[in-house]
Amino acid sequence: MAIDGPAGAGKSTVGRQLAAELGLGYLDTGAMYRAVTFAVLRRGVDPNDVDAVAAVSRSIELSVADDLVTVDGVDATVEIRGRDVTGAVSAVAANSAVRTELVARQRSWADKRGGGVIEGRDIGTVVFPDAALKAYVTASPRVRAERRVAEIGGSVDEVEASIVERDRKDSSRADSPLRAGDDAVTVDTSELGVDAVVGVLRKTLEGRIGDRARGSER
Ligand code: C5P
Repeated sequence: MAIDGPAGAGKSTVGRQLAAELGLGYLDTGAMYRAVTFAVLRRGVDPNDVDAVAAVSRSIELSVADDLVTVDGVDATVEIRGRDVTGAVSAVAANSAVRTELVARQRSWADKRGGGVIEGRDIGTVVFPDAALKAYVTASPRVRAERRVAEIGGSVDEVEASIVERDRKDSSRADSPLRAGDDAVTVDTSELGVDAVVGVLRKTLEGRIGDRARGSER
């Protein structure tokens, strides 16, 4: 199941609940791009140095579990959400060699488990184009900023500006830009609670599975 959408739209909350309800594994691919960025900054590499950043992405040992992210055995769970990583991650994620490496790791994660709920920017459009469910989860920039501030504090105006800037970079890059795929169900969470969003996704999933079964009968 692929859940894509812009920064702070509630993909993680919704994805985790959906995975728990369906008894499936859950993978936050944004945490993977953040973890590479963490390693890049820690090694003093320039995030815009395409070759050096690609080499870092290939060399690191990366573990992204629900509540623990480690990079070469170092706990990076808190730091990957910090200002430095957040400011540099879009440049790292625009690097095609990094994407090739992380997409391979994402596919191998799903292969090992026979599927799961996977969240990111390009999961339905590029990584798993045959996913049983493709969702594009979004909300207005203001609402996304207000939710972030409720979680971690700060100024709504500043957080909103940073979210809008990250969305702009993620949507305008050449490789795998953020966009809703033609066959994705778009859910605007601005005025919906988590249970309601998960409900919409489950209903869509059931409908798609039914469509597929009918298709294979023909
Ligand atoms: O989801 P999150 O906001 O933590 O993602 C951090 C960054 O990682 C995004 O702004 C984007 O640049 C990148 N990303 C990506 N492709 C994904 C997931 C995240 O490019 N599948």
